[in-house]
This record gives sequence, structure tokens and C-alpha cells, in this order.
Amino acid sequence: MAGSLQEAYELLLKSRQSRILAGGMWLRLGSTPISHAIDLSRLGLDTIQKTEDCLEIGAMVTLRQLECDVLTREAFSGILPTSVQSIVGTQFRSTATLGGSVYARFGFSDPVCALLSLRARVVFYKAGEMDLETYLASPPVRDILTCVRIPLSSQAASYQSLRHTRTDFPVLNLSLSRDEQGLHTLSVGARPMKAMRCREAESCLDCGDTEGALQAVRQLPYGTNMRAGAEYRQEIASVLLERALEEMKA
Ligand SMILES: Cc1cc2nc3c(=O)[nH]c(=O)nc-3n(C[C@H](O)[C@H](O)[C@H](O)COP(=O)(O)OP(=O)(O)OC[C@H]3O[C@@H](n4cnc5c(N)ncnc54)[C@H](O)[C@@H]3O)c2cc1C
Repeated sequence: MAGSLQEAYELLLKSRQSRILAGGMWLRLGSTPISHAIDLSRLGLDTIQKTEDCLEIGAMVTLRQLECDVLTREAFSGILPTSVQSIVGTQFRSTATLGGSVYARFGFSDPVCALLSLRARVVFYKAGEMDLETYLASPPVRDILTCVRIPLSSQAASYQSLRHTRTDFPVLNLSLSRDEQGLHTLSVGARPMKAMRCREAESCLDCGDTEGALQAVRQLPYGTNMRAGAEYRQEIASVLLERALEEMKA
């Protein structure tokens, strides 16, 4: 049980087999030996706060907090709660954390896809603050994620995902936001690779070219896994974008 971030960081560097322990829901499925399991739960990283220009969400905030907190429900058309509501079940979401989800940057991650479309930034204890997009593209980091900061500039947003059954992993997820200048940010995840932005579709949407955006989102790289084939994902991507646009019109 780390008493400070510095202590947690020193323990993390002590051995290659040290691991930060968040909700432990993913870690417990692995068989890698762990020399030091570093619990962050007494470091006050479980708060959600609104500052002048961003919403700051601590790494130990659970998915359930994200779903129920009044600030996350009110901000960004409520897409953060929407993005996590189909993840497994209530007990699971009361344990799994946002920090564990973002640090692990799973390709299928629902909250990572939503955060990318909101231009979120991640804050690490040593490496400091960086764009989530930069983090998603960077090599593995041995550091402690302390919080996620989301600029308050998004005016409207929509989160969409397709699942075979409600609590399964997503077949595809897509998230769209529009800021006060009318500029769009679009991310597509569970392709099944990591979420990525589709800048060509964003430019089309900024100019009101919906057809162009629907074409562009189909051109992203998609892959095949046990849930769906690449061609199916390509089709679904434009369907999810249409649904997002419809929702943002309403
Ligand atoms: C059965 C199952 C189904 C799931 N379905 C979905 C789904 O449909 N959609 C979805 O988006 N997600 C899904 N997930 C993932 C889940 O939502 C969480 O992302 C996952 O459990 C990790 O969160 P955790 O808090 O349990 O992290 P842990 O398991 O504790 O940690 C995960 C990894 O992150 C590291 N870590 C954790 N916190 C930090 C930190 N602050 N700084 C540095 N490193 C850190 C740990 O060392 C570990 O390597 C699923 C997981 C499981 C087990």
C-alpha cells in the first residue's frame, strides 16, 4: 500500500516484475509473477473535479464512478457514462478503474475511444502531461498514470458501439465530438486495433460533407478477430458514424 506517489514509483522501478495494482480485474487474469503489487488506493487518485478549463479524473476512479458522477453525466453529452455502461456488470465496474483502462490501452477499450474523441490528455507522475493520442502511439512506459484531463471545449458528442450481446467486448466502437468552433473529432476503436482518429472524416464533417466522412471512416485500417471480419467492421463504421450524427442532430 503505497504512502506516496514517490514511494510507488520507487517500488515500480525496483524490479521488472513490479506492477501497479488498480482494480486488478485484468491483472488477475495473467500468470506473470509479480514481485511487488503496488496498491494506489490510498493516494487520493479517486476524485473527479471540474477546473476552469477541464474535467480532471483521477486514475483510481472506477468505471462505476465515471458512470454515476454528476460531473461526468453532465459533461460532453454524457458520453463517458455511455461508453462504460455495457462493460461486464455493475460489480465489475465498481472495481475496474479508468487508470487501468487507459494505462493498458486495450484495442477494445470503450473509455479510451470516448476520451480520444474528447482530445483528452494523460498525466504521468514522471513523464508529465501528454495527449492521449501521443500516449496511444508511444512505446510501453514504466510510470504511474495519475489522472486524465479532458478540455471542456466539446459542445456536443456521441458514443456508439456494436456488441454481439450487451456485456460482451465491442465489435467496433466510435466516438464523435464537436467543439464550440464547429470542429469535429472522431475516433474509432476495437478495429480491433487501438482507437485512432480519422482526420479525413473530421475535415469532411467540418465542411458539412457527410458523404465524404462516411467514405473516409471506411478507409481506416480494420482487422479480423473472433468477433468480426475486417470488411464487416468497415461497413459498421459508417453505420455507427451515421448514428452518431443523427444523435448529435437531435
Ligand atoms: C472479463 C473482462 C471484460 C472486459 N470487457 C471490457 C469491455 O467490454 N470494454 C472495455 O472498455 N473494457 C473491458 N475490460 C477492461 C476493463 O474495463 C479494465 O480496463 C481492466 O479491468 C483494467 O482495469 P483495472 O482497474 O482492473 O486495472 P488492473 O487490472 O489493476 O491493471 C491493468 C494494467 O494497468 C496497470 N495500471 C493500472 N493502473 C495504473 C496506473 N495508474 N498507472 C500505471 N499503471 C497502471 C497495471 O499494472 C496493469 O498492467 C474487460 C476486462 C475483463 C477482465
